[in-house]
Amino acid sequence: MKKHYLLTPGPTPIPPEVALKEALPIIHHRTNEFAVIFKDVAEGLKYLFQTKNDVFMTSSSGTGTMESAVVNLLSAGDEVIVASSGNFGDRWAKICQVYGVTVHNANAPWGKPVSASEIEKILKTNPKVKAVYTTFTETSTGVVNDIKAIGEIVSKTDAIMVVDAISGLVGQEFHMDDWKVDVTVSGSQKGFMLAPGLAFVALSDKAWKVTETSKLPKFYFDYKKYKKSLLTSETPFTPPVTLIVALQEAIRMLKEKGIENVWADCRLLAKASREGMKAIGLEIFAESPCDVVTSAKVPEEIGGKIVKILREKYGVSIAGGQGDLKGKIIRFAHMGYIGKADILVGFACLEMVLCELGYKLEKGKSVAAVQEVLLNN
Ligand SMILES: *Cc1c(COP(=O)(O)O)cnc(C)c1O
Repeated sequence: MKKHYLLTPGPTPIPPEVALKEALPIIHHRTNEFAVIFKDVAEGLKYLFQTKNDVFMTSSSGTGTMESAVVNLLSAGDEVIVASSGNFGDRWAKICQVYGVTVHNANAPWGKPVSASEIEKILKTNPKVKAVYTTFTETSTGVVNDIKAIGEIVSKTDAIMVVDAISGLVGQEFHMDDWKVDVTVSGSQKGFMLAPGLAFVALSDKAWKVTETSKLPKFYFDYKKYKKSLLTSETPFTPPVTLIVALQEAIRMLKEKGIENVWADCRLLAKASREGMKAIGLEIFAESPCDVVTSAKVPEEIGGKIVKILREKYGVSIAGGQGDLKGKIIRFAHMGYIGKADILVGFACLEMVLCELGYKLEKGKSVAAVQEVLLNN
């Protein structure tokens, strides 16, 4: 028997109020009872996305919706820009390549944000570019990209801007409409405080026009089907009923708190986490660190062992590095239902694991640094 603390950037812990809804008996999805819940959830999602556009729900993890945002907008041979700053940004390019879409890369080195002016330059020299694909909070590195600045640039062209906000939404301040984002995709298992399996997508009018000329094959993820079903508060195929019922509760809780306060909480936990890392000599990896996950460099001799020992000995799950960053960084999430006490537990146990691995530190220093930030804000 062991108590578990989930401090990973997806999945994230689920509040008991939401978990209880997930345990309720299934209701049928072609009923008025479900339609009432669906309608309420669809409205609530607009608030979380900060948009007037409809938000659609698909049954998939986030990546399924990323793929849908390629096949519904493009045709084989189309040109796009992928502005990647890490593993998840690279996923856009991989999906595009699978479908025969030509990718112009505007990549940033891992740890740095993408450059809006580089995107602007590529757009100027490649007028056929149909869409710019990028990532809001790049979970693999802990970087936040300046979506507002990119939106400003892309909105002046015929291209549309597509943003993976899978980990960023609900944790980091985001305004789909004000920042001129055309397509926003997200998923249930990060800031939304829900189990994995449900994904979200919202499209601007400009993006809907682009869907009309798209010729890539699609059936299950055809946005037109979802748009039609939304009129009767339904999905075209059986939705994950349980997740949508539970999402109603999660949205109720988020609304009660107020999205601005949710953003502020994540910002504070991010600041506390950065101070905690620095206090024990761990350098922050991200150049413009996001509010939903904190990444720090760890010595390579011990880097590959920290995550496993932390989980097996103390029940605390954090994430390591992905790809080239494997064994080189650790990542602490602070989004969704992760709170102040969780962060304190995380750092206290991290210190013990580091001690065990022979890393020199003064016990309690990271915890004190976190406490300092939390007390003074
Ligand atoms: C988690 C994550 C994804 C992948 O989502 P899945 O639900 O695992 O498919 C994509 N992009 C970002 C930024 C993420 O954090």
